[in-house]
Amino acid sequence: MPKTENVIIIGTGCAGWTAAIYTARANLEPLVISGEQPGGQLTTTTEVENYPGFPGGIDGPELMVNMQKQAERFGTRVEYSMVTGIEKQEDGTFVLKNTGEDLHAKTVIIATGASPRHLGLPNEKELIGRGLTSCATCDGAFYPDVPVAVIGGGDSACEEATFLTRFASKVYLIHRRDELRASKIMADRALGQEKIEPVWDSQVTEYLTDDEGKVRGVTIENRKTGDKSELDLKCVFVAIGHIPNTQFLEDTGVKLDENGYIIQKPGTGKTDIAGIFAAGDVADHVYRQAITAAGNGCQAALDAERFLADLDE
Ligand code: NAP
Repeated sequence: MPKTENVIIIGTGCAGWTAAIYTARANLEPLVISGEQPGGQLTTTTEVENYPGFPGGIDGPELMVNMQKQAERFGTRVEYSMVTGIEKQEDGTFVLKNTGEDLHAKTVIIATGASPRHLGLPNEKELIGRGLTSCATCDGAFYPDVPVAVIGGGDSACEEATFLTRFASKVYLIHRRDELRASKIMADRALGQEKIEPVWDSQVTEYLTDDEGKVRGVTIENRKTGDKSELDLKCVFVAIGHIPNTQFLEDTGVKLDENGYIIQKPGTGKTDIAGIFAAGDVADHVYRQAITAAGNGCQAALDAERFLADLDE
């Protein structure tokens, strides 16, 4: 008989590791499934300045490694694979279809986060890694002394653009409106950079490529005047928000909202399926912060712990 785990946590971002720390300290010996991007979105960030407890800021990947160490210290186990589906069994337990062997659990905490959104232009997929990316931290250094662009007007776009001034000769910040969505501090920081040139009211309508199939520029359309123009550049960093990683839940019956985010019972980590809990960005399109994901991971862990205690009674 395969082992039935007390709790399987899917995802290794702030929500997943926090759920692991709490369930491990409750002696539930959680098994964590890493997912495609171990450490989650913070592994693509540089400095995290707003996570409490680090007055001087902390490096994103370092914060995630620390969380993992803290979870492992209390007996958390990690498997590096991807869950592809969850099936509820008649006895109330769950089978997790996996890129490795099937896994069995009494409770599941889904903390799979969200992935960067793209514009949906025709040649986008082929261009990823060929001058099109969503991660300035990962790819910025590959584009020294050349013009680049960031698409978006939120905190991510401002953060990426500011970071890219370390390398690029110029950073176009292409936004579809004439006002940034970003918080004032991030917006001021970006707009105060000499190398950053905002391109307002503009939508990228085409990625232009060179003979090697790499990005050489973009066509932009001014949304107020309808005027089209081209910008010569070597790399485009897309920072227009995220899509929740819930595609693998299609046949599970876990309730999702119209944008694919898991619907939690208000103020809890519970989903509408008893024994399945959710935490972090996969269930939060509003706050999407490291600290809110961690807090929600704690809620899901405590809810799972109480659910298991009720089963035992
Ligand atoms: P966001 O706040 O949702 O901003 C997305 C931006 O992309 C918006 O400016 C939006 O334009 C634009 N956009 C969306 N779809 C588009 C499309 N199809 N074409 C062109 N533009 C499009 O996302 P985010 O910047 O990733 O931030 C997400 C959350 O993380 C926020 O809560 C943010 O505060 C947080 N965050 C915090 C930090 C930090 O504190 N260090 C860093 C990064 C992110 P409109 O404005 O017109 O809607």
